[in-house]
Amino acid sequence: MSNATYDVAIVGAGIVGAACAYECVQRGMRVAVVDRDVIGGGATGAAMGHIVVMDDSDAQFALTRYSQTLWHELRPELPPEVEYDQCGTIWVAADETEMTEVLRKRAYYTRSAVPVELLSSSDLERLEPNLRKGMAGGLLVPQDGVLYPPCATRFLIDRAVVKGAVLHAGATVSRIGNGKVQLSDSTSLSAAMIVNAAGAWSPALTSGIDVKKRKGHLVITDRYPGFIRHQLIELGYLKSAHAVSSDSVAFNVQPRKNGQMLIGSSRQFGAEHKEVDPEIMRRMLHRAQEYLPALADTSAIRAWTGFRAATPDKLPLIGAWPADPSIYLATGHEGLGIASSLATARLLADQLTGRSSAIAIEPYLPSRIASLEHANA
Ligand SMILES: Cc1cc2nc3c(=O)[nH]c(=O)nc-3n(C[C@H](O)[C@H](O)[C@H](O)COP(=O)(O)OP(=O)(O)OC[C@H]3O[C@@H](n4cnc5c(N)ncnc54)[C@H](O)[C@@H]3O)c2cc1C
Repeated sequence: MSNATYDVAIVGAGIVGAACAYECVQRGMRVAVVDRDVIGGGATGAAMGHIVVMDDSDAQFALTRYSQTLWHELRPELPPEVEYDQCGTIWVAADETEMTEVLRKRAYYTRSAVPVELLSSSDLERLEPNLRKGMAGGLLVPQDGVLYPPCATRFLIDRAVVKGAVLHAGATVSRIGNGKVQLSDSTSLSAAMIVNAAGAWSPALTSGIDVKKRKGHLVITDRYPGFIRHQLIELGYLKSAHAVSSDSVAFNVQPRKNGQMLIGSSRQFGAEHKEVDPEIMRRMLHRAQEYLPALADTSAIRAWTGFRAATPDKLPLIGAWPADPSIYLATGHEGLGIASSLATARLLADQLTGRSSAIAIEPYLPSRIASLEHANA
């Protein structure tokens, strides 16, 4: 491995690194991908795989919508184990105040040419009979979908390798910079461009990036086909995703193709250990049962945690790192890295090859939040 030379060396084979590798080899670059763990073993392996369009900000909307169209284009090529299912999202409004947010969301999506359907209380009862009765209504976003992130990542890496990428699995990167990827066994790779796609661990390789670990819990149930039919999320989810000072939970439940359900979600800053926190689990499951009372009669078979990579402005970092001309970042995707991975790869490869992009790149450029005085020159 010593002194092998590439156009691009990508650190991290989560879904973001995998998507970047596939995009870069398709553009004719010599690509290496390095990961210390199994493919998709970071946040990617812990995620729900909701391919969702989100409208927290215009920039978040642009990235998630672009990426969703790329997932739709790729869908015919995805093998069955990726379990892509265009089940749609229903944003559930518990009361009239949340219905106001549904109306705002409907107006935004409609203006932006995303098909949506306004649901009344009785529509909700018909579409999702296990939801608590008496909800105010909701918004159905039929083009949203779900997939199984580890297999999607494996698919992207395998495609990249078939096209010539070199995968260095089980190799820990100790340092990057000045065109060198230093491995902990003292060997190194040379690359004109190095992509830090190490997710929540990216600041350990590029100091000065303001990315923090945001822990999340998930639970998976036994098989209950038809129990729910769409990804169901409370409108209050947005409050939970925005909370920065406290631990938060929100109702977010996903149907898997095999009848299992994934129950989320929680968000915690400052929780660095991987262990499941029983109190957070209790709160998360309690919240889910408030919306789906019959969940109380189902069996959960496993729970786990993962670490989202959170930035202060809730947008990922995609592009050149000002402190070192050889370093590019593809990190900081928080809870949307699966959804926005394909668009991230396009925007990054556009920058590496000097092409213009389908959407404006400026909102995601690392230079916007780079605290250069702390960065390694
Ligand atoms: C509970 C939970 C639910 C989620 N649900 C969704 C969802 O429904 N939809 C969605 O879009 N997103 C979701 N997310 C977010 C999503 O998981 C992440 O945004 C996404 O997986 C980030 O991918 P990544 O490739 O950037 O990072 P990761 O998957 O974390 O990959 C980083 C990789 O870098 C490797 N690495 C790190 N340091 C080094 C080093 N020094 N040397 C070598 N390798 C290294 C790691 O081993 C890892 O494989 C969820 C996250 C959590 C925690």
